[in-house]
Amino acid sequence: MLNLTRLLDPAPPDPDDVRYGTRRPAGARRPVVAWTVTRRCNLACRHCYSASIDKPYPGELTDEQAFAFLDDLIAMPASGLLMSGGEPLMHPRALDFAQHASAGGLRVTLSTNGTLVADEAFADRAAQAGFSYFGISFDGVGAAHDEFRGEPGAFQRSLEGVRNLKARGQRVGLRMTLTATATPHLEEVLDLIEAEDLDRACFYHFAPSGRGRAAMAETITHEQSRAAVDRIIAFADRMRVERPDREILTVANAADGARLLGWLEERGRDTTAAWERLARVGGNRSGKAIAHVDNTGNVHPDQFSWGQKVGSVKEQPFSELWADESGLLGELRSKEQHLAGRCAQCRYLPVCGGNLRARAKAVGDGQWGSDPGCYLTDAEIGIEELAAEGAWT
Ligand code: SF4
Repeated sequence: MLNLTRLLDPAPPDPDDVRYGTRRPAGARRPVVAWTVTRRCNLACRHCYSASIDKPYPGELTDEQAFAFLDDLIAMPASGLLMSGGEPLMHPRALDFAQHASAGGLRVTLSTNGTLVADEAFADRAAQAGFSYFGISFDGVGAAHDEFRGEPGAFQRSLEGVRNLKARGQRVGLRMTLTATATPHLEEVLDLIEAEDLDRACFYHFAPSGRGRAAMAETITHEQSRAAVDRIIAFADRMRVERPDREILTVANAADGARLLGWLEERGRDTTAAWERLARVGGNRSGKAIAHVDNTGNVHPDQFSWGQKVGSVKEQPFSELWADESGLLGELRSKEQHLAGRCAQCRYLPVCGGNLRARAKAVGDGQWGSDPGCYLTDAEIGIEELAAEGAWT
């Protein structure tokens, strides 16, 4: 997750910065945990990572198991809990889970399609549940969104959800995945952010897992990715000046950090502060500072890695699984030793970290190979120079 508005700020990074804080020793890692509360969903979006529909899913955590998992996160403590789905609010205890976690001191955020909080009474309850932020998904405006979501009227209901939560004093933002269908509607979505006075916007790069893997036609080209990211960076740069408290972020493509440095260089602007902030984080943090627990309790390095299981909270507390440096988590925490392909030779490796391994494994050259989501050219990442020196073949 790259906070573009923050990265574009030319002021030197604050040494006590939390989000871009110093690296901690492995034993002290406090992850942000994304939790698929339920896989059930009232919509059927084309890019869905969990391939969700409106039906019960067997093997989901019981309420008792879910509360025990939350108590473990509170005791760690985890640095945040992101409740997602499916549609997390479809779970009958979703608000109880949020209340329990926030009362225990966790920062709890919600990723939702927003349709259920279009109901005023439910919005009242959601606003009391202790969420620090609501991220509501949009893939366009009006009919474009409805078509992608497979539900006429979905856009209007999500918009009512946004307005209901804002009217109740909640912090609300927008989430958009840069798919082939949605990306042509980027301008309308940027307008929507301003028209609805949203606090935050997260633009997700498409990663092939869940239904997304079957919908490879939704993948955009490198040229389209780059154009979209450049447009989002320019928007974030304007927001930084006009509305400094509005955060604009991209997710699931750490190469965006390298692109932001190039974007600044092309405009003759200093990159020192941005490079320092990016290097402190070290790029993608799947399995290092991010984890995912799915609806059945399986633990994964991130929400794009459903095929890679670290363990199950039904059998072992999350905190114990997380502390184990052997296996996949240990490899991800020392991934610079394993990376091959373009990433291993890239001059941006310290700020990108080899990007999203789930995408490399699913549709690239394997777990440690090049990430096919990287849209930077060989010249930009310094490979052509290496080849000229005979160090790259
Ligand atoms: S080549 Fe790899 S490390 Fe370099 S910017 Fe692209 S994804 Fe990141």
